[in-house]
Amino acid sequence: MANTILVLAEQLRGEVTDITFEMLGAGRKLAEASGSSLCAVLLGAEAAPLAAKLGAADKVLVADDAPWDLAPADAVAGALEAVMQQTQAGLVLLGCTNVAAGIGSMLAVKTGLPLVNFCRAAKAEGGGVVCTSQLFGGKIYSDVKLADGKGVVCIYPGAFPVDAGKRDQAPPIEKVDLPVAAPKVTFKQYLEPETGDVDITKQNVLVGVGRGIQTQDNVELAEELAQVLGGAVCASRPVIDQGWLPLSRQVGKSGMTVKPRVYFALGISGAPEHWEGMQNSQCIIAVNTDAKAPIFDGAHYGVVGDVLELLPALTEKVKAKKG
Ligand SMILES: Cc1cc2nc3c(=O)[nH]c(=O)nc-3n(C[C@H](O)[C@H](O)[C@H](O)COP(=O)(O)OP(=O)(O)OC[C@H]3O[C@@H](n4cnc5c(N)ncnc54)[C@H](O)[C@@H]3O)c2cc1C
Repeated sequence: MANTILVLAEQLRGEVTDITFEMLGAGRKLAEASGSSLCAVLLGAEAAPLAAKLGAADKVLVADDAPWDLAPADAVAGALEAVMQQTQAGLVLLGCTNVAAGIGSMLAVKTGLPLVNFCRAAKAEGGGVVCTSQLFGGKIYSDVKLADGKGVVCIYPGAFPVDAGKRDQAPPIEKVDLPVAAPKVTFKQYLEPETGDVDITKQNVLVGVGRGIQTQDNVELAEELAQVLGGAVCASRPVIDQGWLPLSRQVGKSGMTVKPRVYFALGISGAPEHWEGMQNSQCIIAVNTDAKAPIFDGAHYGVVGDVLELLPALTEKVKAKKG
């Protein structure tokens, strides 16, 4: 097993993102099971004050010079390779996120270590690490054994508990100068979601609509339910493709990954590409006219019925309950 486990911490506009705490929680568990130490690497201009929030790590290495702000994948992979040599690290955890996209494969090539993508679970076993990797949009789960516990593992967002990576203690922090190789690509622009729109990844209640909602006008029925529940409306891809809702509301493989407390799947069949984006919701309530729709295989509660009848009735019930 590796002596040191590295976690590449992610931050965006002054906030440590949830995936960082998921990785720290997963890394902490592996480190304790194997007697390794856990080291976080934090990159980005003015990122240093965030290091104090990474208390689940035994140590945080910080590089907060300007070039590390949203640095391209090849530059970060080069820096991580240098950190691995300095710290004798053999296992690196990265986020399976847009921020870290491409870093894992480049680091694996540079170091000759195996790469495990879409990791949803990891445990120390017999001196190595067994990772469960999600393949084909969630149709297959595959256990991969890193026999000596060494490798580059990309952690699937939402698969590990966030709280497990949070500690009320400041870790030792060390500023480091890392080599900045001339990048082959440069960061040009950060695109915000459409202004005025809600961030569906931050909602407690999501009312998801699919092709079964049938018309753009009917989306209003879902808006009404979302409003009385204090949530927001999101959708499957066909609804977005029709232009009935903006792209920032799409859930799934080519949209957002969400994990609200309650997710309504209304007129959504439950295709793997949609399921992939909402499977970690705490409670999934599906409504579909087809009793054999795949969404019922994973939903916690299911109603076989017409969403156009159920939506106004449910909204009225919630209103009445709230007085
Ligand atoms: C590379 C790739 C990426 C993709 N990315 C995404 C993605 O990010 N997000 C995504 O959602 N999809 C994505 N897809 C598309 C995905 O494969 C499915 O086609 C899509 O999720 C289906 O959406 P749906 O469930 O709304 O429609 P359908 O599969 O057509 O299902 C509609 C459902 O509504 C039910 N229904 C009809 N009328 C009613 C009614 N009155 N009341 C109740 N139920 C009713 C039907 O029984 C049916 O189950 C992707 C596909 C590919 C190939």
